[in-house]
Amino acid sequence: MMKYISLIGASGSIGRQTLDVIKNHPELFTLVGVAVGKNIAVVHEILTIFTPQVMCVQECEQIPTLSKQYPHVTFVSGENGLIHVATLEESTIFVNAVVGSVGLAPTLAAIEAKKTIALANKETLVTAGHLVMSAAKEHGVTILPIDSEHAAIHQCLHGERQKNIEKLILTASGGSFRDRTRAELQDVSVTEALNHPNWAMGAKITIDSATMMNKGLEVIEAHWLFDIEYDDIEVLMHRESIIHSMVEFCDTSVMAQLGTPDMRMPIQYALTYPDRAVLHNASRLSLADIGQLHFAKADFERYPCLALAYRAGREKGTLPTVMNAANETAVSLFLDGMICFLDIERLIQMAMDEHETIQHPDLATIQHVDRMTRDRVRGLAQHLKD
Ligand code: MG
Repeated sequence: MMKYISLIGASGSIGRQTLDVIKNHPELFTLVGVAVGKNIAVVHEILTIFTPQVMCVQECEQIPTLSKQYPHVTFVSGENGLIHVATLEESTIFVNAVVGSVGLAPTLAAIEAKKTIALANKETLVTAGHLVMSAAKEHGVTILPIDSEHAAIHQCLHGERQKNIEKLILTASGGSFRDRTRAELQDVSVTEALNHPNWAMGAKITIDSATMMNKGLEVIEAHWLFDIEYDDIEVLMHRESIIHSMVEFCDTSVMAQLGTPDMRMPIQYALTYPDRAVLHNASRLSLADIGQLHFAKADFERYPCLALAYRAGREKGTLPTVMNAANETAVSLFLDGMICFLDIERLIQMAMDEHETIQHPDLATIQHVDRMTRDRVRGLAQHLKD
């Protein structure tokens, strides 16, 4: 059966790979709506291959020219445009591949419109997991993770009962600085930080991997997706990124999902679920060639962002929102050369320490706290410089 797909964040790393998956299976998937960022070249790239009904661009000034060029496409813009794409009547699956908490409102709108959600935007669950999961339950909507770890756990849990889960084990590569001591992190450059050993990903998530905040966000994401307490979610260092994550059951049995590090696999799996399809131009896993896999305990002192994430997750309320907004702001300041690498974790901790958590926040409260935190972190960053 044909699946009709709406995709936001199409110009990012996950978005482009999603387009690749859709393009390779025209018998399975049709792109009906799509949203891109500032990069107008991507608009033309997409429209030479696909024929979506609706396209969302960032700036509304671009619409008149594009409409003339592509009269069969309806162009929309801004946050309302994202929501329009997310709730398109023709779409059955909504793929959220935007980066950051801007992904939250479209996700909630798509849930209300009863779309199946394929979620690559982990900030959505981190900042408002309680709202997203309860809305999904209320509307009978399935949320399928597009994150290699969570897609792995989802596969390991096939046919299993919730009550038999002992713990989830999220694997972590350690990111671009895994072989450096904390002292060696003081003067690292943006270029060095962007050089991930295993995965080719967008800038924000690559920095998050280097600080391990990415794994922290994933711990919170796993808590919401699989309804598992934080004490039962473990992070395990695994250099090769071959085991994408594991589940241990009450009888000591451990299920793992393995594969070469290729994000198109979890993307395609979310789109074909519960079926599977051939993954084009992919290399198959050869454990004989790899020979050895390595594992180690996660060190919370080496990676303080991981500890911050467990703290935020356990405290719940608005603290995860603060942590996420502070992280997004700090990472973008680092990428712009405004702060040094270790300032990222400093700023997140400062923002969290001074926040008074509000429990059970609604969407307006979350958005308010998110904005306030971003302003505060920019202010704190200025202080660090002075
Ligand atoms: Mg991941």
